[in-house]
Amino acid sequence: MSITTTSMPFWKEYPERDSEWVRQYPTKHVAVTEDEVFTPRQMGVYMHIPFCNRLCFSCPYIKFQTERDLTLAYLDALKAEITNYASRPYIQDHVITLGYIGGGTPTSLTAQQLDDLLGHLHSSFTFAPDADFSIETTPIDITERKAKVLLDRGVRRISLGVQTFVEEELKNIGRPSDPEMLKASIRLLQSAGFENINIDLMHGINGQTMEGWEHSLDVAIELGVTCVSFYTYMEFAQVSTKRRKLPPVPDRELVDEMFFFAAEKLTQNGFLGYYGDCFAKPGFQPKYGETSWSDDVPIIPLGPTATGHLRDHWYFNEPDLGKYVQIVREGRLPISMGRHIPKDEAIRRTMVLGIKAGRLNRERFMRLHGVNFLEMFADEIADLVEKGLVTADADGIEVTGPKGWYYLDNISKAFYSPEFRRYPQHLGADITGFISPQRSLPLEIVNSGPQGGCHDH
Ligand code: SF4
Repeated sequence: MSITTTSMPFWKEYPERDSEWVRQYPTKHVAVTEDEVFTPRQMGVYMHIPFCNRLCFSCPYIKFQTERDLTLAYLDALKAEITNYASRPYIQDHVITLGYIGGGTPTSLTAQQLDDLLGHLHSSFTFAPDADFSIETTPIDITERKAKVLLDRGVRRISLGVQTFVEEELKNIGRPSDPEMLKASIRLLQSAGFENINIDLMHGINGQTMEGWEHSLDVAIELGVTCVSFYTYMEFAQVSTKRRKLPPVPDRELVDEMFFFAAEKLTQNGFLGYYGDCFAKPGFQPKYGETSWSDDVPIIPLGPTATGHLRDHWYFNEPDLGKYVQIVREGRLPISMGRHIPKDEAIRRTMVLGIKAGRLNRERFMRLHGVNFLEMFADEIADLVEKGLVTADADGIEVTGPKGWYYLDNISKAFYSPEFRRYPQHLGADITGFISPQRSLPLEIVNSGPQGGCHDH
C-alpha cells in the first residue's frame, strides 16, 4: 500500500538545509604554539613558621618559643603538607611565581633547617626561574650563613622587624634595645647580597615623640633600605604595657600626624606608596601582595593559621599547632574555615584587594573577570573621586596619597557586597556615611562575562 501526502511537511517552509556540518568553533584560526597551549598558570605559596627565639611581651600573635623537638615535629608536618599539595594534579598544573614565608620568625630556624625546608619546597613544586620569594626576619635571628642559604634558595626580599631606632622605644616594646645592632643587621643583609630589604617601623609606641619617629625614618633612609612598612602599635597590647608602668602611648592625633609625616618624607625620598603604609623604591614593590591581589593569583597556605586561595575558595588552616600536626600526619590537609567565592564576589574581591594594593588596571581586570570595572562601579568610583580619595582615567584608578592611603580600608569597603558590611565596626570606628550606599551587582552583567584565562578554577 502506498502512502500519499497532500501537503509538504511544515519544516519545508524553512530555508534550505545548511550544508556545513558544524564541528569546530571559532571557525577561523591562527597559528598556535605548544608553549601557548601548555603555559602553566601562576601560583603562590604562603608558608608559616610559628616560632620565635625570643618572645616580645607586646606581641599579640600566636607563636611559640623555639624548642628543638617541637620544631622538628613541626617541620616534618610542614613538609608532609607540602608533599600532599604537590601530589594534586591541579597544583601540578601551575608554576610557583611568588611566595611569602612569615611567622613568628622564620629565621628562628637554623640555617640547616631553612635549607632543608626550602629544598623540599623547590623539589615538590615547579618554580618559575624568577620566582619572587619574601621572608620575615628579626635582627637577633639573622646570620650571614642564614642569609646565604636564603639567597641560594631564591629568596629575593627580606623583611626585618626593626620597629624603631630609638633605644628607649625599643625597651618600651620589649625588644633588644641596641639601635646599633639593628643597623648592623641591615648592613649584614646588604653585604650578603640582598638587594630588596624591607624594614618594619611602628608608630604609636609608648613614649614615642615626633622627633623619635623622624629619627627612625631618617636612619632607614640613610641605610638605603628599599622598602619601609609602618604599623600602628596594637592597642590591645597596652594592657600589659600599663602593668609595666611605661610612659603613655602618643594620642591619636599625634599618631595620625606621624602617618602623614612618614608618607611625605618617604615619597620625597623616592619611595612610592603601596598598601597605604608600605613605601618602596621603584622596582622594589612587595610583589607577593601586589601581584597575588591584583592578578588573583591562587595561593597555597602552608602551616597553622596560614591563609590561602585555591579553586574559588579562600580558607585558612587549623590554628592549633598540635591539631595541625595531627591532621597532617593522618594524610589530610589541615583546612579549617573559609568561604566559596562566587563570580560576583570574586569581582568585588579583586576590587577590594586592588584598592589595598593602591591601584587597579582596567585591562588587567578585564583579562581576569571579563568586565570593565570602571563601568560596573561607576557610581562608587565617581563618589571616591569627588572625595579626593582616588584618581581615575581610561586605564584604571589609583588611590590618592597621602589622604587615600590613610583611608585605604574605608575606600576598599566601598566595594564590599552588602552582606559583608559591618556597622558598627568591632573596634568602634564609625564609617557610616563615609562611602556611598551599597548596591548589588547586576547579575546579568556578572554572569555574561567571559571566563578570564588567568582566573583560578
Ligand atoms: S619576634 Fe615578632 S612574632 Fe616573635 S614575639 Fe616578637 S613581635 Fe611577635
